[in-house]
This record gives sequence, structure tokens and C-alpha cells, in this order.
Amino acid sequence: MNLKPMIYEYRVSAPRKDFYNITSEVREAVAKSGVQDGIAVVYCPHTTAGITINENADSNVVRDLLLGLDKAFPDRPEFRHEEGNSTAHLKASAIGSSATVIVNKGKLVLGTWQGIFFCEFDPPRERTFFVKVVG
Ligand code: ZN
Repeated sequence: MNLKPMIYEYRVSAPRKDFYNITSEVREAVAKSGVQDGIAVVYCPHTTAGITINENADSNVVRDLLLGLDKAFPDRPEFRHEEGNSTAHLKASAIGSSATVIVNKGKLVLGTWQGIFFCEFDPPRERTFFVKVVG
């Protein structure tokens, strides 16, 4: 058992509303940690962005997810939040602010088609996310 859980900080430059593939950064954090068996928590400390795991093979899946989120959470005139980005807050809450991935034999346990994404809903932004690896 690793008694010193490690945390790694990364930046994402997010010029547009999109899902940014951060799988390689998470793999790097796991490798740096030296943890062989445990979990990696990927966490986004922002209120208009999120973290999700979804298909990494066909980029149209991300396109369709963005389209679906726009349809599910349209901007509404009755919103009161003065910043004017309540639709981005809604999408961020629907997607969630973290993902947990199992680490087995030093590797992320991801399906063949899965990737880990930072989801930007209120661009352009310079963002941060954290990876905490616990063995
Ligand atoms: Zn806001």
C-alpha cells in the first residue's frame, strides 16, 4: 500500500466549446506515481467545465454529445444568473466534475474505445485539472 497519495496538476487551453482528450496526461500521472494497484481520480475545479469518460475512436461521438447537451440545456430567458452562462453551469453539473479510473498493474483500466475528456462549456478559458493517484 502506498501511504503517500500523490496529486498532479495539469493545464488545458480551451479556446472553444469542446471535449479535450486528457487520457495521456492521466496515464503520465499514474506512471509518475509508481502506483501499481489503486485508483486515479481526475478532478476539475471549475463550475462551467467537467470530466467524462467516453468514446475516443470516432470524433463524431464528441460532436454528437455536444449537440445533445445543447439541445438538453438550451439558454433560457428566465435564467437569473447575471454572468449569463447558466447553460454552461447546467452542462457542467450534468457531466460531473470528476472521473475515477481503476489502476491495475500500473495501467489505467480503460475499455478499447474509451478516453478521458476535459469538457469545456464556457470558452475561451485556460483551465486546470488534477489527477490524484492512490495505491
Ligand atoms: Zn456563471
